[in-house]
Amino acid sequence: MENCIFCKILNKEIPSKFVYEDDYCFAINDINPKAKKHILVIPKKHIESLAQADDMELIKKLFEAIKKINIQENISDFKTLINTGKQAGQEVMHLHIHILAD
Ligand code: 5GP
Ligand code: ZN
Repeated sequence: MENCIFCKILNKEIPSKFVYEDDYCFAINDINPKAKKHILVIPKKHIESLAQADDMELIKKLFEAIKKINIQENISDFKTLINTGKQAGQEVMHLHIHILAD
């Protein structure tokens, strides 16, 4: 999707180190971390938010990725967060799951 920062990162138009990648999603460190480890898990398909998501198999893949990322990053205790909609604090309108660990 044009003008979407996460699509631009996926397409390497904006350089960003991928912490994790598979066929369905990729993960990057948040540019403005709100915990010692703050990772964003992002589906490769542009979906605006959880409210627009109808493929629950994809949502499952995201959570499977979170488990793999946490093993890789040595994270055992963590919070997950999905902001849905501007009023709820969603700034980037491309679905993503925050992993927050201190
Ligand atoms: P939201 O508020 O939409 O749930 O979260 C968006 C997150 O994306 C924020 O925590 C923000 O710091 C992060 N973010 C915004 N732009 C970029 C960027 O260009 N690179 C990275 N790595 N994170 C970003
Ligand atoms: Zn996008």
